[in-house]
Amino acid sequence: MIDVSELHKTFHGRTESNTVLDGVSLQVGTGEVVAIIGPSGSGKSTLLRCLNLLETPDAGTIAIDDVSVTAPGITGPQARALRSKTAMVFQGYNLFRNRTALQNVMDPMTAQGTPKRDAEQRARELLGRVGIAEATMSQFPVTLSGGQQQRVSIARALGVNPHAILLDEPTSALDPELVGEVLAVIRDLASQHMTLVIVTHEMAFAAEVADRVVFIDGGRIVEQGPAKQVIRSPKEERTRRFLREHA
Ligand code: ATP
Ligand code: MG
Repeated sequence: MIDVSELHKTFHGRTESNTVLDGVSLQVGTGEVVAIIGPSGSGKSTLLRCLNLLETPDAGTIAIDDVSVTAPGITGPQARALRSKTAMVFQGYNLFRNRTALQNVMDPMTAQGTPKRDAEQRARELLGRVGIAEATMSQFPVTLSGGQQQRVSIARALGVNPHAILLDEPTSALDPELVGEVLAVIRDLASQHMTLVIVTHEMAFAAEVADRVVFIDGGRIVEQGPAKQVIRSPKEERTRRFLREHA
């Protein structure tokens, strides 16, 4: 499971500082799907990036599976161990341009020491699972649609057998007609009880697919609960206002 406790992060500018995470504590059970929603600038991406240590928290503890680290003082081997527990899927432009779809999925596996033949076999399986046809696997990202690229990114994330996959607005860079195919893949992972943390502005999708919805505003968790309950009948006025504006 993921257990985040009292996470703090402040960015220091030249003239002012910006506290972006102000004591966030969050638990995500193994096999649970959690959607994080909230206004622009509320700290959603920063929270996700802290889980993967793409951003270093100022204070707090992050425990994922059997690795636990406390900030500050997150160092090399400890940081690597925590990073290996999750895989990130970003909005877009995730893939290496000079590697084919297949190579993009194989590379993280071979980097981890998986023999090339095994990596290729597993990459083909995973690409099949996200609906990428055999003929498409040898194509370079630039020749793929945005939806195909995002599905390859998800296959790549799955390849390293992470404890959890972290998705930051995986559909928001896509043309509307391509959103559905990516959501379908995520829905599929959820039904197979992959642990997922998804930052999304797709409220209907969050209500349908997530077990739990977490509403963040101003670097704090304002409200969380069963997905349908939070989306359809939020308890907090701030959540209600946000959902009215994002209906
Ligand atoms: P959005 O919905 O627009 O993606 P968000 O909730 O993901 O927003 P974050 O990206 O976490 O928000 O950003 C929260 C705040 O932190 C913003 O004010 C942003 O400008 C600031 N911020 C994020 N990353 C950095 C950084 N590397 N350096 C300085 N400020 C940053
Ligand atoms: Mg963001």
